[in-house]
Amino acid sequence: MLGLMQSQPLLISSLIDFADRHHGDAEIVSRRVEGDIHRYNWRGVATRARQVAHALDAMNLLFSDRVATLAWNGYRHLELYFGVSGSGRVLHTINPRLHPDQIAWIANHAEDQVLCFDMTFLPLVQAIHARCPGIRQYVALCDADKLPADTGVPNLVSYEAWIAGQPTTYEWPSFDENSASSMCYTSGTTGNPKAALYSHRSTILHAYAAALPDVMCLSARDSVLPVVPMFHVNAWGIPYSAALVGAKLVFPGPAMDGKSIYELVEAEKVNYAAGVPTVWQMLLGHLKPNKLRFSTLKRTVIGGSACPPAMIHAFRDEYGVEVLHAWGMTEMSPLGTLCTLKNKHLDMPEEEQMKIRLKQGRTFFGVDMKIVGDDGKELPWDGKTYGNLYVKGPWTVREYFKGEGGDPLVDGWFPTGDVATIDGDGYMQITDRSKDVIKSGGEWISSIDVENIAVAHPAVAMAACVGMPHPKWDERPIVAVVKKPGAEVTREELLKFYEGRIAKWQIPDDVVFVEAIPLGATGKMLKTRLREMLKDYRLPTA
Ligand code: ADP
Repeated sequence: MLGLMQSQPLLISSLIDFADRHHGDAEIVSRRVEGDIHRYNWRGVATRARQVAHALDAMNLLFSDRVATLAWNGYRHLELYFGVSGSGRVLHTINPRLHPDQIAWIANHAEDQVLCFDMTFLPLVQAIHARCPGIRQYVALCDADKLPADTGVPNLVSYEAWIAGQPTTYEWPSFDENSASSMCYTSGTTGNPKAALYSHRSTILHAYAAALPDVMCLSARDSVLPVVPMFHVNAWGIPYSAALVGAKLVFPGPAMDGKSIYELVEAEKVNYAAGVPTVWQMLLGHLKPNKLRFSTLKRTVIGGSACPPAMIHAFRDEYGVEVLHAWGMTEMSPLGTLCTLKNKHLDMPEEEQMKIRLKQGRTFFGVDMKIVGDDGKELPWDGKTYGNLYVKGPWTVREYFKGEGGDPLVDGWFPTGDVATIDGDGYMQITDRSKDVIKSGGEWISSIDVENIAVAHPAVAMAACVGMPHPKWDERPIVAVVKKPGAEVTREELLKFYEGRIAKWQIPDDVVFVEAIPLGATGKMLKTRLREMLKDYRLPTA
């Protein structure tokens, strides 16, 4: 016997319809590439998303055809999120920080037909368009009078001219909720990038889950600043969740420096922000010397790479901001875990609570996880045993776009490539990427632990721990350190700083001071490149 309730496909168009009808006057504020502030509301987003849908129809773009973006977080990008997917096409957000060769490769692999870009990326488009014959329309995300005449880019139109005159009403099509809605390529540090292809269903389920109190806890009372880019895993799904709850959105555009972010937070009464640790490092670096305080910011989600405990402490103790540590990946839309306490933790002393908050957190309904040994056997949840982290759920990839890389699953589970522990309460803690694991005398040393201690030192801005070959122990850890401007610390002082904070045999054998640590396109430390930089390095202990 079937249930007798209405059956409606879960479609992204219904999200924007909902935001339009029930939260039409909730504000959307963007810092534009031009530097000024643009202000309108969800009703405006919905109206212009419908015009985008008409513009795509006018090009005779078919169902599932790809529309790419090279764009910052801003209102036009948001309109594309809903107009492209809502009308049945696939939004392909490209990371502009990738190498132009990689961008051209990705655009061709995805078979993009339209490329919408912020003017910041005009030089990039000029560099790649000749190599992307499949792109038949270029759309510059600017006013008609801001488009230079002789760009050399064929079939180029300004966004405003492109949608101008298109009707503001549109009948969103209805189709199978499992249809593709958007795609995002993984950074591809090894081999060619592979794309996660999200569906309407996976996106809506993820948006529901992300809004839950124990996940990102989003509501119509929030003013949300997603610093995490819309070109990277859909800004952690915030644009969709914000539409689902009717939150105010505040977009930083290209200005991601500490000063600009701080000013936007204050001006727009932002109470909620989300981003990777490197961006928050810049924000904290601006606050301290200028003796600034937040008047509205209360919570921030930090993820994408491990959030150092020193940062969680600084936010809480100095600024009264609660950090929610999150873990996820492109292949998971991206949310996998988030760290919030349970009822039984509330009476614990603060330091005990803090030990939990430092972990990457627990999953929520829609994500299942386990850790397995190299033999594939499941390992215990004791908070000590570490193993390969596997996940599954309705917003985790089943297969990459075009079957690239073959079947990624093992018995239905997706191997994340992370190594982690899980404790008895289900809190997961990442110790390493499996390819970055350091094995000393048969025992694993967590590079994240070593890095977290280094950045807790007041003179250290950034630290990366890698293993170096050792004749007796196979590998020993060293830590590469970037000092804070004007700060001083010696190798000996830093090694001494480790004493009592980590087991003796886990203390790095050496400290190497560097100007900078190479970062990848998504702001993560590129340890492969760091190892190349240090290829002539020899351990003093070897
Ligand atoms: P995203 O940057 O959105 O998380 P990516 O697919 O680019 O997505 O990267 C995913 C990888 O980033 C994870 O497999 C993990 O190694 C790392 N990562 C993400 N969040 C964290 C975190 N909170 N702590 C440690 N590593 C993290």
